Amino acid sequence: MIDEDQLRLGRRRLLQALAASAFACVHGQRPSVVGPATATIGGLCAHRRRLVAFDNIHRAEPLVVWPHSVAELQRFLMNLEPGRRITFRSGGKSIDGQALNDDVVVMLTDRAFTDISEVRMDPTGRIALITVGASATWGDILAATTAAGFVPRAVPSAAGITAGGSLSSHSISRFSPVWHKEGDHVYELKMVLPGGHLRTLRRDARPGTSDHNLFLGVVAGFGFLGAIVEVTYELLRVAPAGAQVQVATHSTLFHPRINGLWVDLLTTLQRRSVDNEIVLRRAVTTASTPPPQPEPEPEPADAAPATPRGRAAQKQPAPADTEPTPPVAATEVQLEERVVTIIPEPASTVYASFWWGAGSEKPEKALLAESRYVYDRDLSPMILYEPDNEVMGEVENLMMGSSWVNRTIQDLATRLFANGTVAVTPIAGFTFFQDANLLVREREYTGPRSVVLQQTFILPDPERGAAFLNDLTATVRGDAELPTLCDVLWLPKDAYPFCLSATAESGGFAITLTYLRPDDSRREKIQRELQALTARCLAHGGRIHLVKSVEVGSQADLEATYGAQFAYFRALKARYDPRGQLVNRFYERVLGPWTPPGAARAAGQAGRPPA
Ligand SMILES: Cc1cc2nc3c(=O)[nH]c(=O)nc-3n(C[C@H](O)[C@H](O)[C@H](O)COP(=O)(O)OP(=O)(O)OC[C@H]3O[C@@H](n4cnc5c(N)ncnc54)[C@H](O)[C@@H]3O)c2cc1C
Repeated sequence: MIDEDQLRLGRRRLLQALAASAFACVHGQRPSVVGPATATIGGLCAHRRRLVAFDNIHRAEPLVVWPHSVAELQRFLMNLEPGRRITFRSGGKSIDGQALNDDVVVMLTDRAFTDISEVRMDPTGRIALITVGASATWGDILAATTAAGFVPRAVPSAAGITAGGSLSSHSISRFSPVWHKEGDHVYELKMVLPGGHLRTLRRDARPGTSDHNLFLGVVAGFGFLGAIVEVTYELLRVAPAGAQVQVATHSTLFHPRINGLWVDLLTTLQRRSVDNEIVLRRAVTTASTPPPQPEPEPEPADAAPATPRGRAAQKQPAPADTEPTPPVAATEVQLEERVVTIIPEPASTVYASFWWGAGSEKPEKALLAESRYVYDRDLSPMILYEPDNEVMGEVENLMMGSSWVNRTIQDLATRLFANGTVAVTPIAGFTFFQDANLLVREREYTGPRSVVLQQTFILPDPERGAAFLNDLTATVRGDAELPTLCDVLWLPKDAYPFCLSATAESGGFAITLTYLRPDDSRREKIQRELQALTARCLAHGGRIHLVKSVEVGSQADLEATYGAQFAYFRALKARYDPRGQLVNRFYERVLGPWTPPGAARAAGQAGRPPA
């Protein structure tokens, strides 16, 4: 017998499924058809499609191809006609124009790219690994690892984002303050270069070799050097196999000293993040440091460009350049025997959201949250962490409408959440908390055109971060648009100096401003204000994170802050994509117009990257 509740649930799921397919149509997983088959490109049948970025601002009508296997992708790239420009696309969750192209888009959504292995050990028996196809979603990957008691160390906050898409942006998670960004935990990846060559890149490739150089370019490289087809991630043990992995979160209203909110908040975030990282690394290293390896024979470096930061790169271990021994298939017994550490419960990650309160003085306020992995606890979930609860998405809709409502809801939320209790949430709910917003937006994308602008500013230390937040406060107290949500966390410096990463050279505070608006009417004003804030961020020695919205006055502003890293990336591009086939409008907005290697050299633009 089916009861009323089951019927209601069934109806809701059906509605959600219908809304999801409409959303997917607009967003590109199943792009909407503009016309019949129109061309054969690189040997594949291409159809013209309308694609929209997540911001609902950037759009394109490219020819789209769907390779069905790695071999077909290789043949396509080998046979691609000169003059074609292509972009890879998988989860389609890019906020700006990262995954769009006016000429050709290559959809890496076929099931051939979604395999997920079992959790297994590396050849030393100390490092737990999982291998996933580039288009495996983080929802599926997290389910696979947690079943065995493990978690990936950095997971983006929507279940539909794919490994290839997030690694191409070196994604940030709320555990990044202690576990860094995604790319630092890649053990190995496989990619296909323009021209069709399949390459396997390991993070411990010797500095100076083309494998090492490509690794630094491909992670955070937005697909501008080739297509990632497979990734092997290092995992962290957090529970025994079979346990229910959860996250416990404790939130407090942050009490600043008088007039000292921002610098106090940022100093606290940094101090707690650094302390927790030390505790966690010590615990994990004790159990998982591989035995010392013999020094490899020196090998001549190939002709690839030198790394952008030779000193940092030298620190990486340099084992022989041979293929790794295939790991023995894992069994439960091996996992239980070999991975002995479960990270200590008290250590946690820490992050904050902030806003300006309701009322005439609009004092600034911040909610400081600390989260840690736990397992098999009684659940006491927060509504914020129930991804299939549409109420949260509806609340965000209310917050879009009026800045007074926005402030009042945030004030009320503080009373609800910052009450000294600890919320225990299933790990998927905590991790994919943005899915509630996606559910509501799925419906909206079929109706009025709502707009999202979300930009992340990276400020290097508490003083300069506070100066930027003071500038922001001044604009919010004037007649500037109020961000719907603001959050901040500390990001340590990358372990590997990825070329297009904002934290390759130093750590920094990631300050993210999100503007949700029900329609397009205030978009241009918000864009102008973000550009003015970008100028303030750069003046304080900060950087713009390239993963979300990128609103800058001019490309020269980005060039000035990323200088050496951009030069290095362009040198890699000249070597691996000499015909400039992996270029789109986003590339040109961020890295400048594509120039063929010969012409760039003649004009003195390509330059040699710094040693
Ligand atoms: C609701 C929501 C929540 C988010 N949460 C977070 C978060 O917590 N942390 C964070 O850092 N970011 C977050 N983002 C941003 C998101 O992680 C990035 O935009 C990510 O790049 C999207 O990946 P995707 O799988 O959707 O790929 P797409 O949008 O299809 O592509 C993203 C980029 O990767 C390239 N690409 C895609 N697949 C491949 C491949 N196989 N090989 C090479 N290049 C490829 C594309 O060309 C493009 O440049 C969020 C975005 C949304 C909409």
